[in-house]
Amino acid sequence: MGKLGSEQLMEMEHKFGAHNYHPLEVVISKAEGIWVENPEGKKFIDMLSAYSAVNQGHRHPKIIQALKDQADVLTLTSRAFFNDKWPVFAKKLSELTKKEMILPMNTGAEAVETAIKTMRKWGYLKKGVKKDQAEIIVFDENFHGRTTTIVSFSTDPVAKDNYGPFTPGFKIVAYNDLDAVKNAINENTVGILVEPIQGEAGVVVPDDGYLKGLSKLAKDNNFLLAVDEVQTGFARTGKMFAFMYEDIDPDIIIMGKALGGGVFPVSAVAANEDVLGVFKPGSHGSTFGGNPLGCAVAIAAIDVLLDENLVEKSNELGNYFMEQLRNLKSDKIKLVRGKGLLIGIVLNESAGKARQYTTALKEKGLLCKETHDWIIRFAPPLVITKKDIDYAIGKIKEVLG
Ligand SMILES: *Cc1c(COP(=O)(O)O)cnc(C)c1O
Repeated sequence: MGKLGSEQLMEMEHKFGAHNYHPLEVVISKAEGIWVENPEGKKFIDMLSAYSAVNQGHRHPKIIQALKDQADVLTLTSRAFFNDKWPVFAKKLSELTKKEMILPMNTGAEAVETAIKTMRKWGYLKKGVKKDQAEIIVFDENFHGRTTTIVSFSTDPVAKDNYGPFTPGFKIVAYNDLDAVKNAINENTVGILVEPIQGEAGVVVPDDGYLKGLSKLAKDNNFLLAVDEVQTGFARTGKMFAFMYEDIDPDIIIMGKALGGGVFPVSAVAANEDVLGVFKPGSHGSTFGGNPLGCAVAIAAIDVLLDENLVEKSNELGNYFMEQLRNLKSDKIKLVRGKGLLIGIVLNESAGKARQYTTALKEKGLLCKETHDWIIRFAPPLVITKKDIDYAIGKIKEVLG
């Protein structure tokens, strides 16, 4: 079989792959840094970074080297035995998050499930909630993953319809509204699960002080605050974690995506011993969680963020990017919002659907994805330069200006 072209590959995927995504019509067969390339050799700037899983850039040489070195010696042991990488990764992530313990999983959804289990078990064992009565407060327009329990508290009909019966025990309240949370608290509340910025909802940034307010409610009412940093974590928003804008100390930090350096699925939950200590041998686990290959990659992924000052870069370049977007003064753009290099352009109703613009941007060599019908998200790899951003702004101007 000769080398397959983009048209053939898209046709083949359409025929043999389930249609659970609606990809932009571009096939990627090669990538490096911020650049990706199709089989015909056309290059594009990646402005999505696999939903922030590629913060360190495609195929970062240090991360790829760690992967290769580890693949040559040991890949999988399961947690039935110790291995020589998981403890090193756990220590590193514990120091980064300033939490005493780490529980490793693979995907973001698994880490969210782990946090839900943690809050419930903590509620029964530490708070004395009566059997099967635990409640977790979650938010309108949340996105935490795709498992049956997680979609049970989704408010997006596309993500949820026809997947019932649903898992009970979740109270859904308005985002960015502390009174709504106050009204939902009762003696069975074991925790809040919140995105510090709602990514999938369209880069929705809550008011300053909101997370601090949630943190105070959790402390005053004896329940846990879990922040889902799967998308916002690891320098994406101009801080190592987005909750750090608020000077709070959440009880549970949920991580994924960029923890795997764009190479390997690695996720984790961090919390102190009084919280994660509720797990005893056998009460939770994952065959691949804590595997040496993933741990080696994650260690390198964290090192790259720190060594290359990607937190500061994300903050500075994010502000610059947003300023340039606001300067476009296009009648198609309603507003530009975000933090660091997690940026959303909200379109005016008169502009029509976002998909036509992401398609047009693709033709100009920029790959980004719409979220809902009226928001375009820009989240390039954090190794992007000011010069690359200027180039991108020129293209965006041609499409939206
Ligand atoms: C992507 C995402 C998840 C789910 O991660 P998967 O690896 O796709 O399971 C959970 N929470 C947030 C905020 C996300 O953006």
